[in-house]
Amino acid sequence: MDDIGVGLIGTGYMGKCHALAWNHVRPVFGDVPRIRLAHLCDVEAGQARQRADEFGFARSTTDWRALVNDPAVDVVSITTPNSFHAEMAIAALAAGKHIWCEKPMAPTLAESEAMAAAALASGKVAMLGYNYIQNPAIGHIRALLAAGAIGPVNHFRIEMDEDFMADAAAPFSWRSERKSGYGALDDFGVHPLSLVLTLLGKVASVFGDMAKPFATRSYAGKQRAVETFDIASAFLRLTSGITGALHMNRAAWGRKGRIFVQIFGGEGTIVFDQERMNEVQLFTRDGAESGQGFRTILTGPLHKPYDRFIVGPGHQMGFNDLKTVECRQLIGFMRGEEAFGIGFDDGLHIERCVHAIAKAARDGRWVDV
Ligand code: NAD
Repeated sequence: MDDIGVGLIGTGYMGKCHALAWNHVRPVFGDVPRIRLAHLCDVEAGQARQRADEFGFARSTTDWRALVNDPAVDVVSITTPNSFHAEMAIAALAAGKHIWCEKPMAPTLAESEAMAAAALASGKVAMLGYNYIQNPAIGHIRALLAAGAIGPVNHFRIEMDEDFMADAAAPFSWRSERKSGYGALDDFGVHPLSLVLTLLGKVASVFGDMAKPFATRSYAGKQRAVETFDIASAFLRLTSGITGALHMNRAAWGRKGRIFVQIFGGEGTIVFDQERMNEVQLFTRDGAESGQGFRTILTGPLHKPYDRFIVGPGHQMGFNDLKTVECRQLIGFMRGEEAFGIGFDDGLHIERCVHAIAKAARDGRWVDV
């Protein structure tokens, strides 16, 4: 692979994160081919042209099908709203492209299954945007668990909260439309589920609950009924027998990017908060000193690939760096190397959990995944 031709569909919040990652991955990691930013797409021609200029893409279009069929494109970043993911990913896989698609896979299980089947049939790499699992701090937690630092895990709790929909006056957007999914459950819940999957294993059964803090939001000068749930909770039983709970709220005033993880074991506890994403808190009961309170571990060059970003320990990585790590893993998969990330196959397990939690909430009973 001499170089990698990149196509990007969607230039909003995540589109910029993908564009930054594609621009940074070679300077940061060095060991990857030259990145060619070939083609960018958004719905409005002027915006697409402007973003192509800002992000460094050679061409822009408003026709995503032209982009996925462009021979100059080897891999397509899909950063459009959830309801477009399936159609775009399946078409791009059929055109022989690798995929880097934002989470969640799609609003319906049938679409997610079709995406996973298309990825399998294509033999191409299809990876999802589960950036939080790429944090070196989370990698350190994985290492602590593997080393038995807190003994056998018996319970976990993960809370994901932000306040971008906390204001009753926040306008109706695609996030309030049923066609985008359930709401906090798939918009947020898939991130905690990605942490559960990669740190603790697969889920066997679930119980769930969902709530709407606001019945309507403003839309074109009127009030429109909100179709999604900004609050969701779930109890999980893993195949290993470990139990846990997830709480998600995108209307949680004061919370900006909180993913609060607690993992309890027979010999200690691990705590992590994404708002302090360069720290891990560790409690172990061994020894009189260490048993008195949590120890704060700051990430640094020892926690790979922190060292690729900056040599100083405790100098801190940021959200966009996680996307650059994710991009490097994607390139690893494309080159047939051992790499870490969630593809459409494991992503489908997360989607099955989401739909099982929604069913449990509807039916008021535990549901097998
Ligand atoms: P956004 O609204 O900021 O951006 C979406 C972009 O897609 C817009 O520029 C829009 O014009 C464009 N678009 C819509 N339809 C299109 C079409 N048919 N063709 C081309 N472009 C089209 O949304 P966002 O917050 O960037 O979310 C995009 C995706 O990223 C969603 O799936 C969301 O769940 C996911 N996301 C992931 C994370 C994460 O941490 N990994 C964070 C936020 C959002």
